[in-house]
Amino acid sequence: IVISVDGRPLDAGAGQRGAVAVFHDITDIRRYESDLAVFAGVVAHDLKAPLTVVRGHCEAAQEALEDGDDPSASLDRIERAVQRMAGMIDTLLAYTTARDAPLTAETVDLGELVAEVVQDRARHDPAPEVFVGDLPAVRADPAMLRHVLDNLIGNALKYVRPGAAARVDVTASPVGTGWTRIEVADRGIGIPDAEKHAVFERFHRAHASAGYDGTGLGLAICKRIVERHGGEIGVADNPGGGTRFHFTLEVSDMKLKARKKDDDKA
Ligand code: ADP
Repeated sequence: IVISVDGRPLDAGAGQRGAVAVFHDITDIRRYESDLAVFAGVVAHDLKAPLTVVRGHCEAAQEALEDGDDPSASLDRIERAVQRMAGMIDTLLAYTTARDAPLTAETVDLGELVAEVVQDRARHDPAPEVFVGDLPAVRADPAMLRHVLDNLIGNALKYVRPGAAARVDVTASPVGTGWTRIEVADRGIGIPDAEKHAVFERFHRAHASAGYDGTGLGLAICKRIVERHGGEIGVADNPGGGTRFHFTLEVSDMKLKARKKDDDKA
């Protein structure tokens, strides 16, 4: 390596006391950029299918209206296709921000956030059974945390056994000092032990998930977000059949203080 200053080789005798060389490790940036290119390709390809649905059903709805028929079946199909496209674009945006966007640390009511996500997600046929336990307030970036919950709950609702109704349990229990372990358990198709670790890698999709929509990026994003909060994420078999994901987060101090006051009063 030749260190030069203003294009001239560094010569300590020529009145220069030294120079600072700054080296960046760009491996991570390169890998991220090539991931993004692959993912943009996947999204562009996957957007074509719902777009074809939208185009076809717009025409069908138009014809139905002209003939005085009910266009609602076509409008339903259009709505679902648009939702799928919006989901893909959300994942793309999350991937671009999860890497290094600054995180905020706010007190987030986990129960409220889970209820919102479930409401947005639970428009399935047949309707899913969702059980939400008593959840604490946590310290997190609300938008990023929403993404993690949306992904885990979305997967729990998606990877259902054919013909079965989804059943999802979201619970939390204290772990360590001031941390909570959140679990999202389902009764779906499950993940074999050999693939449990790999599902957190980018673009990895388990064999059993062929035939279900997906990009294989959601859990990689979840892992990055949880780790940037100082927590960890993992997966195990659900004892009741299916899969149980967990991740850890710091409980909000504000809530702990409120609890402490209650304890002092008692
Ligand atoms: P996607 O669902 O878009 O494929 P994810 O990164 O969210 O991507 O998940 C990676 C893979 O992990 C999925 O393709 C699927 O094989 C498996 N997986 C994730 N969640 C579940 C689940 N709840 N039940 C069974 N398999 C799952």
